[in-house]
Amino acid sequence: MTRTVYVNGKYLPENEATVSIFDRGFLFADGVYEVTSVLDGKLIDFDGHAKRLARSLGELGMRNPIETEDLLEVHRELVRANNIIEGLIYLQITRGAAADRDFTYPSDDTPPTLVLFTQNKPGLADSPMAKVGIKVISIEDQRWARRDIKTVQLLYPSMGKMMAKAAGCDDAWMVEDGAVTEGTSNNAYIVKGGKIITRHLSNDILHGITRAAVLRFAREAQMEVEERAFTVAEAQDADEAFFTSASAFVMPVVELDGAAIGTGAPGPVATRLREIYLDESRKVAI
Ligand code: PMP
Repeated sequence: MTRTVYVNGKYLPENEATVSIFDRGFLFADGVYEVTSVLDGKLIDFDGHAKRLARSLGELGMRNPIETEDLLEVHRELVRANNIIEGLIYLQITRGAAADRDFTYPSDDTPPTLVLFTQNKPGLADSPMAKVGIKVISIEDQRWARRDIKTVQLLYPSMGKMMAKAAGCDDAWMVEDGAVTEGTSNNAYIVKGGKIITRHLSNDILHGITRAAVLRFAREAQMEVEERAFTVAEAQDADEAFFTSASAFVMPVVELDGAAIGTGAPGPVATRLREIYLDESRKVAI
């Protein structure tokens, strides 16, 4: 099926959508992105993603080419046009196409590039992976130091996924100074003695929109939450582990570097948090 995508104000068939070879996203990874999930044909946590987008743009001194209400309308139109019931909407903004390749930023009259497309994912909420859990390896975190900005420089996370695949696993958790930072495309958690432990917010990790929601729901459900760094050894010795992201929601992790975590099956805390997250998010989806 040919998707309808959005490029700089126009809705186009995907095979007619183009971006310049001089686009700074292409040449310098000078761009930011967001991924918003769709359940029941509605957007999950759109406001959170829009706010983080504005923050990422601000941190990079990049102009926001679209008002939030117009952005919402573009998301909704793409959901309608592509008949998405469950899936994802990918959004990318770059600093635009300058006249030539040049490290310095182009002048303010260079319009940013804005691209959105949908990914149809039937069965996203009822994921078979969530029932068995996933296996991760640990790798050194070799990314840059501003991981709080959601940039499109995703080469190291891609390498990490390939390292995981080569090891017969599903994902990699990255480690810096002896502690887990986050997954290649998700935030990492362990559960010990009923307490949910996840790394505190800083420039070292992306401030996950799903993380914020899940921690809020956990606290509302009287679960204890501790925001601090944890080690691989601590994770291997935990009762449970899981990760969160907009595309996987809450995903149990059952093995780390070949060692089973807890019983080696999805634990009750991760399973319960996934249910709460999906239920509560559906209620307020727009
Ligand atoms: N950390 C990283 C490195 C990510 O790429 C992502 C997903 N984009 C997350 C965390 C999770 O963020 P969110 O819950 O907003 O999808």
